[in-house]
Amino acid sequence: MLGGANRAAAWHADGHSHITATAARTLSAEDRQRLGPEAEALARYYCEFPDENWAAFGEWGGGEADPRKPRFPDTRREWDISFYTGWNPVTREGRSYPHRPPESYEAVPLYFSHSVEALQAGSLVDAARYLGVALHYIQDSGAFGHLQPIHRSFHWKNHADVHPDGYQPQSLGKTPKDAVEGLRARLQGLVAFTEDRTGRLLETVGMPMAEVKPLCAKELMPPRAVAAVAQVRQTQPELWDAAVRECAMECAHVSADVLHTALSLAPKPMPEPKPHPLGVNLAANPSFEIPGDGVPQGWYVGWIDLQDRTGRAEWYRAGTHWDKPVKSGQRSLLVLWAPRDGIEWRQTWRCAQRVTPGERYRGEAWVKTRTDSGAAWAALEFSNAAYQPVQRFCTAKLTGDSGWKQLTIEAEVPGDARWLRLVLHADVAGAAWFDDVSVLKSPAAALQRASHRR
Ligand SMILES: [Zn+2]
Repeated sequence: MLGGANRAAAWHADGHSHITATAARTLSAEDRQRLGPEAEALARYYCEFPDENWAAFGEWGGGEADPRKPRFPDTRREWDISFYTGWNPVTREGRSYPHRPPESYEAVPLYFSHSVEALQAGSLVDAARYLGVALHYIQDSGAFGHLQPIHRSFHWKNHADVHPDGYQPQSLGKTPKDAVEGLRARLQGLVAFTEDRTGRLLETVGMPMAEVKPLCAKELMPPRAVAAVAQVRQTQPELWDAAVRECAMECAHVSADVLHTALSLAPKPMPEPKPHPLGVNLAANPSFEIPGDGVPQGWYVGWIDLQDRTGRAEWYRAGTHWDKPVKSGQRSLLVLWAPRDGIEWRQTWRCAQRVTPGERYRGEAWVKTRTDSGAAWAALEFSNAAYQPVQRFCTAKLTGDSGWKQLTIEAEVPGDARWLRLVLHADVAGAAWFDDVSVLKSPAAALQRASHRR
């Protein structure tokens, strides 16, 4: 998603997305139907997760500590990427696997196993996110993450060169345990394939793979290996491009095998999520008391204006002033000195509600403001299966110096919506606090009309 010039991305700026989309397109109609609407998000978002699990997300400096560069959007928290990768770069909890063999031989089976467990627990969404992480590690392993002089010259020219080629995805095992063994062997086979395919070309300039590997074990970019790669690319550009293409296609094949195998281990039919109960608060961590990593669990900051240098979003703690702007407990959410476009606190996707068109939902939030201009409000935001917002329903606006007021909004789920998130928005020139929010399912409109008549 963020193909910064500084990033040594594998394959191409959006190479992971393209290989993953290619793999998904080779699946059978049955597998594609099972992956359903998550296929698009898998290619667009999930397979990029491991490259977006850095503490720089949400911070200034474009990831390279340059104060003139804009803020990074907080993609890491928006998607709970540290949860799915099992490594949090802020708290340093969990385990971080380098994106290359031999560590990937351990990482890929681990994420694959998580995806199978999620499928068996009935969560296609979690399964697809873990699969995205697994696919990323597969694709980095097939792009010489372990041999940087090759990796950094391993980019294809045209997307059209990497496309479905009639490959039939293979099962890697009939049980989760067999599948893990099969997967490990398949991944080692992929790395051997890429080393052999590229090694043949390096040999023609007197630098066999058997020499490249020990050099790279000692040094990241050994000059002799760098020179050999440059020489092949200069003297045999077409053969080099063909090798890149074949290795990328092999990555797509292995990715397709992994998708097919995971889906074949899912319960049939896949259970649909249970409908939400009426009148129960569905919002996770609604009073913001449960800590996440610097923000409350289940929430993140939507920095709308990435160039704004003044606005702040804080996880407010009571007890530091005489005035305690919390509605209950010790915590509230605060937006300070927001730019014109505002700053938002939003629910992470993992805490978003799955919704069905025609259902009705009610959003509630207690809000307090102290500002000379601008306003604060809450909104129910509906998004489609591709996680793109389709419609927002906003509460009334709170302005000026106001004590705690509960703002509410009720809306019917639009026809193309699949997800609902509560959004807390402020474009105040002063401060706005939010606390004790709720998301409640209401009786459907037809039922409501019936009860009015009674
Ligand atoms: Zn990577």
